[in-house]
Amino acid sequence: MSDTNGTAIGHDTAVSRVYHAMMHDPATQSGMISQVKPLPEAYYTSFLSDLAKERRPSPIRSLFPLEKVPGVISLLAGKPNASTFPFTSLSFGARSPTNPSEETTLSLSEDELAQGLQYGDTAGLAPLLDWLFGLQEVNHGRKRNEGWKISVGSGSQDLIYKAVAAMVNPGDPVLVESPVYAGVIPMFHSLHCNQIEVETDARGIRSSSLRSILEQWPEGKPKPKVLYTVPYGCNPTGMTATLERRKEVLQLAREHNFIILEDDPYFFLYYGKALRYPSYFALERENGEVGRVLRFDSLSKVLSAGIRIGFASGPEALLKAIDQHTSSLTQAIVFKLLDSWGYDGFRSHTERVSQFYAEKRDIFERAMKKHLTGLAEWSTPEAGMFFWFKLLLSEDNAEDQGGDSEAVIKTKAFEKGVLALPGTVFLPNGRKTAYVRASFSLTPEHDVDLALQRIKDAVLDARTA
Ligand code: PMP
Repeated sequence: MSDTNGTAIGHDTAVSRVYHAMMHDPATQSGMISQVKPLPEAYYTSFLSDLAKERRPSPIRSLFPLEKVPGVISLLAGKPNASTFPFTSLSFGARSPTNPSEETTLSLSEDELAQGLQYGDTAGLAPLLDWLFGLQEVNHGRKRNEGWKISVGSGSQDLIYKAVAAMVNPGDPVLVESPVYAGVIPMFHSLHCNQIEVETDARGIRSSSLRSILEQWPEGKPKPKVLYTVPYGCNPTGMTATLERRKEVLQLAREHNFIILEDDPYFFLYYGKALRYPSYFALERENGEVGRVLRFDSLSKVLSAGIRIGFASGPEALLKAIDQHTSSLTQAIVFKLLDSWGYDGFRSHTERVSQFYAEKRDIFERAMKKHLTGLAEWSTPEAGMFFWFKLLLSEDNAEDQGGDSEAVIKTKAFEKGVLALPGTVFLPNGRKTAYVRASFSLTPEHDVDLALQRIKDAVLDARTA
């Protein structure tokens, strides 16, 4: 690990890296804030969709705490009787976070297994929630007692959908960075939102475009309540938003009253040379007022995608509108692993995973340079698992020539034996673009070379067609 000047920062903890970045920036003294004021619950009333306003707390759940009163015989819950379940024990092998060739066996205790096999608390399994609150403090400097909450869900995708459904009514405008993660386009579409695209570039979301959209917003027309953005190693563009951009976007959220949906599944896959930028969730604490960021984390990229654990952190008024109990068993397994590692172990593991992707990125870029120099343009990603490159489909390579990668990628490149995604699928309005998304997470080195050779041949074919 090194700082922006390439100086080694050695074994800094994740928390000190975040604060290091903040405190070296005179305008960002968030680490210094001692008094934090969450926005009042009433503030969120206008942010809730009609559907969310209809949601009533479960009359049974509110009575559950009374089951613990000594002497009370509870006939309340519709829980199945665990003595009928066929599972008797659960053990799994896990790599050591510091030495991946070392493996230990972790076993759920009787109580942990019983908790994992039964219905549990809506927001998440209590010990896992405790661990995650600690993680958010380590990574984002957010203290648990400062008026925010965490909800665990079946991956961040599930939580994002529920959050948006809890906030928008059909016809509402939503701000989305563009190009945008293709998984949210059909989601916004099915909720009948009017997607307002905000331009992005190599430094992330363009705050000046966002400002002009908001400043030119027609008078009397309801303003957008949310902005969706992926600040680290964006899917599809691979870009990481700079600190300056993040601050400007946050300032706009304050001025124009919207909630930032910070979808950050590649936060743990940052392998850039600069210090890690603070998240929106960390940054919003800088002026002592919190509640404009709803942050989505995912364990999919660093523990397992199949285990389906993501978590949302943010204002309680919003999260209580989306809570829905997710698998107790996977939460119990994840907690067992994380608890055995501790925060330092988790950091070692995620740093190792991010280094793995950095090497994959380097292999891919070497092959890009070898085959696509003069045929494509790109910026080097510093997080995540994607290259986003523009095909130069005619020889004059004019900057503004536009172009359409779809036919080249879907037909010509596929015929030559390579699959990638034409950029149009990441544009909410589906317009043509010369960009392509290529994922470098899985492909072995030899195939990377072959794949890019095939893309090169397809582009050359298109140029002569
Ligand atoms: N957001 C983005 C930007 C993603 O790239 C992905 C995974 N492809 C997700 C959300 C979904 O993550 P999860 O597995 O946690 O649902």
